[in-house]
Amino acid sequence: MSTVGNTRTGYDVQHLQNAVLRRRSVTDELLQQIRMIAPILGLVLIWSLESVQSGWLRSGRLRHAGRNLMLWAINTAVVLVTISTLTVSVIQWADGRHLGVLRWLQIPDVIAVPVGIVLLDLWMWLWHLLNHRIPILWRFHRVHHSDIDMDVTTSFRFHIGEILCSAFCRLPVLIILGVGLPTLLLHETLLVLMTQFHHSRLKLGRLDSLLQCLIVTPDMHRIHHSPIRDLTNSNYSSILSLWDRVFATFRVCKESSSQPAELGLAVFRSDNWQTLSGMLQTPFADVTTGTNPSSDSLNAKSSEHL
Ligand SMILES: [Zn+2]
Ligand SMILES: [Zn+2]
Repeated sequence: MSTVGNTRTGYDVQHLQNAVLRRRSVTDELLQQIRMIAPILGLVLIWSLESVQSGWLRSGRLRHAGRNLMLWAINTAVVLVTISTLTVSVIQWADGRHLGVLRWLQIPDVIAVPVGIVLLDLWMWLWHLLNHRIPILWRFHRVHHSDIDMDVTTSFRFHIGEILCSAFCRLPVLIILGVGLPTLLLHETLLVLMTQFHHSRLKLGRLDSLLQCLIVTPDMHRIHHSPIRDLTNSNYSSILSLWDRVFATFRVCKESSSQPAELGLAVFRSDNWQTLSGMLQTPFADVTTGTNPSSDSLNAKSSEHL
């Protein structure tokens, strides 16, 4: 009788575990689909709002968008067949061994997931700072900063070298923090939408200043895209503006009229650096941008693009 009882209990536990695993994989799949669709929905929405505010036919708008989106298409294809699969495998590996602070604490998902998202946002602040401080990282990151006509599509303008490096360096962080796949997918979705929002040309007036108390806004991030060194090396946050306040890298223009008039990098302004080929070659260009504190270590030899 007790054998039958034990067998029955064992069957129930197995049944329950299978149900939990099934529910988890359905949730992961749903979040993965949301993560894939979010950039397109966000782009359509913010592009439309920008059009309502600034008009559909801003000079060179479609050409500018086409170039940035082509870069994104290449990046997406490379990421899908490389780092994406590796990241999921690493998380599953850490999950199977119960590694990482958030797993050790055994706190409920309702707390662990938001905490994980906030910690990943902090990591992104640090990673962004390093991109401005370490010369080799800046070479790749300057592709993003070389956009002279910032709008929602600038949020897609990253060199594949930066994206791969960012994803590789994040792997140990995911293990140490004990971040699960749902947390990572929610963070990435939020990050994509927030990045689109704060690169947009939306003019929010006083609402922008109010939102800056909590999140990164278009006015705040526009300062980061100024060609002036002190301004470029500020406002590194991605989602929460908190990190720039805590680490004293927060810069704000009191008046919207004092917002940077020009954006981009002085040495990458010409049209050949704005093409797809120009963007892909930017990290390897032998010029100094004058915005990186360590830029003296780059070869300051002038080129025809200066
Ligand atoms: Zn930057
Ligand atoms: Zn940016």
